[in-house]
Amino acid sequence: MSKHCVQCGLPDFKITYGREPLPIDDKGCCVFCNDYEANQKLYEVNFKANEEKFLALCNQIKGKQKYDAVIMYTGGKDSGYAAYYLTKKLGLKVLAVTWDNGFFSKQHEQNLRELVQNLGLDHKFISIGENNLAEFYSNRLKKLGRFCACTQPALLFCAPEIAASEAPLIIMGVSFGQQLSLFQNRLLFEFNINERQLMLPLLKERGMGIYQMQDPGFLIGALLDVACGNYSPAMEELLQNCFKHFQQMMQEERYINILSLIYNFDHKIIGEVLSQYGWKKPNNTHSAGHTSCIMEHLKGYLAYKQNMLNLDYLEIAAERRWGRISKELFEEVLPTIHYNQAEPPEMELFCKVAKMTREEVEQVLVGKPFASPNPPPINWELVKKLTVNINQEQLSKFLSLAYNRGIP
Ligand SMILES: [Zn+2]
Repeated sequence: MSKHCVQCGLPDFKITYGREPLPIDDKGCCVFCNDYEANQKLYEVNFKANEEKFLALCNQIKGKQKYDAVIMYTGGKDSGYAAYYLTKKLGLKVLAVTWDNGFFSKQHEQNLRELVQNLGLDHKFISIGENNLAEFYSNRLKKLGRFCACTQPALLFCAPEIAASEAPLIIMGVSFGQQLSLFQNRLLFEFNINERQLMLPLLKERGMGIYQMQDPGFLIGALLDVACGNYSPAMEELLQNCFKHFQQMMQEERYINILSLIYNFDHKIIGEVLSQYGWKKPNNTHSAGHTSCIMEHLKGYLAYKQNMLNLDYLEIAAERRWGRISKELFEEVLPTIHYNQAEPPEMELFCKVAKMTREEVEQVLVGKPFASPNPPPINWELVKKLTVNINQEQLSKFLSLAYNRGIP
């Protein structure tokens, strides 16, 4: 029976950093809650300053290329609102790009189309083909024990289209809760208190949520998803092309922007605004956080089977800790992500998309690749073919640092 934090409800499963169980003290408080109490100042986000920096950046790039911004668009709440904000509020010329992750529900697709039409967006739907998609998912699950696939792979697989758009801004609609949880996770386990004091002003100088594409983190993230896999020649060819464009973009002046760190968006207002443009909350999703993906339950299940904390736990707990969602909403949502024992119905769809049998999936989970302290071996032959501009030693180091750090 797992122990739960009395403040945020997190269970004492292993956490992605260090793969140790979440420490919960004698008073029943978890390490995240205790740290937040003790160092609240460190966790403050200055939205006003971030917004000013972002607006200055928009003015600097506006009208110079075919598109001002590409938005990584899923038709979900966060990227949908981001699309609204950039076009209607800021008047930017925007291309919306959707990577077909194989798991779009009818409602989801409907939302996607409604917003494209009603916001007047230029839109590209990028599909990598059934077989390549299956190879991507099965390799990722087998090697990394991970399932979730939104931002990172979308950036990689859409790289040729993003490059062709010439847009200087790449906009992510990642939710604030996701950012908070990753941010706190990272601050807490990577830096001691003195280092944190030094690091935060540096982050704020550029404005939180504004990153340069040259930062190697994005390339490493994309590589991490695929570098340990074994693929067919067709998939290798696709990956070669994507990494070519990805690296080409790193040579140019491009910014990746996490909009939820720049603006203080409110869940309720987002929903209200989007509904004016024909968006409807999908039935099977909860009303907080990003989680509009229909595979949330599966993500929770796969993490649970490996005894690891699902990011959704971290996300919703972080939102509650920061006072971003009410106690009532938190209590309504927590049971829906506290997914455990029973195999969710989405497993069938996953098996179909990944072209795996249930037995194969179960076999992977018995090995708990997500909970392993060390990353799987890198496929050097593949990495050579991808001609990434990183030497072997660097890549090994980066991979072990980044291995399953972020999103389960
Ligand atoms: Zn807690």
